[in-house]
Amino acid sequence: MNAREIIDGVERGSRRHIGRAISLAEAGDDDGRTILAALHPLTGRAIRVGLTGPPGVGKSTLISSLVGRLRTDGQTVAVVSVDPSSPFTRGAVLGDRIRLAEHFVDPGVFIRSMATRGHLGGLSEATADAVLVLDSAGYDVILVETVGAGQNEIEVQALVETVILALMPGSGDSIQAIKAGLMEIPDVIVVNKADRPGADLLRAEIESALTLVPAGPWKPPVHESVAIEGKGTLELWTSVLDHRAFLATDGRFDARRREGLARQLRQVALDRLARRLESSVSADTLSDLVDRVMRREIDPATAADRLATPR
Ligand code: GDP
Repeated sequence: MNAREIIDGVERGSRRHIGRAISLAEAGDDDGRTILAALHPLTGRAIRVGLTGPPGVGKSTLISSLVGRLRTDGQTVAVVSVDPSSPFTRGAVLGDRIRLAEHFVDPGVFIRSMATRGHLGGLSEATADAVLVLDSAGYDVILVETVGAGQNEIEVQALVETVILALMPGSGDSIQAIKAGLMEIPDVIVVNKADRPGADLLRAEIESALTLVPAGPWKPPVHESVAIEGKGTLELWTSVLDHRAFLATDGRFDARRREGLARQLRQVALDRLARRLESSVSADTLSDLVDRVMRREIDPATAADRLATPR
């Protein structure tokens, strides 16, 4: 398959070509760059939604339920699943992926797990590239699933217009998330596993934490869901659409996209610089500088300056 064939295939919505395009982009291949550049003008049509939350809150289950609902409405859906902590994107709970896997055979659904290894650029760039390809391929909705528990390794909010944060009762991670100020990120919040005790309490805690965040024009709604039973996902999706309607006013949508792109470009550039530095500094140079600091010939800041200065 050459680049032209792949571009044409993606435009036709061929899953095989879409998969190939994402893989080439991940590999940092020249053809990958050509393909991304050709596809970029076709983007901007999809509804892009991020779903973030600590491991185990039920993100895949929620996504599976959302996908089912969107498919019933006749919408096509792409899911990009990113888990920086696991090389196999949660291989340990494979059983749970099977729920999502029921959608694998549906031609209106495309599911892609981003590998943590095997791409030239950072994971952020690979994820952004995958979203670009899927948007250009004409999927109505793109769901980007990331694990977030305090610090988001992936800047999901840069890639999507609406971020959903999922939390659950009885989890330290969820409490941590509130304390860590994750509350400032999401546009919509969902307390999943509402069939378990403590959902009301968690919801109240979230509501009260929200009052501490400076009130903007959009107040994140807080939902409850029981994803395993498909309960609450309709309301959740309605809130996503409400948020989009909100963004559609006063030029907010473009402002959000601009802000997202600025984050994305900055992140990709930082990744590139970091890689360039890694490859330009030899182990010997580093070891030599460490020796000199150890001998107190130079101070650590000066040594770091020398490392950071391109030769
Ligand atoms: P993820 O790591 O956030 O993607 O979470 P998963 O979707 O893999 O779900 C983790 C576990 O929670 C699985 O065993 C699910 O079956 C279970 N689960 C998901 N949603 C619910 C729910 O609403 N109620 C209950 N009781 N369990 C759920």
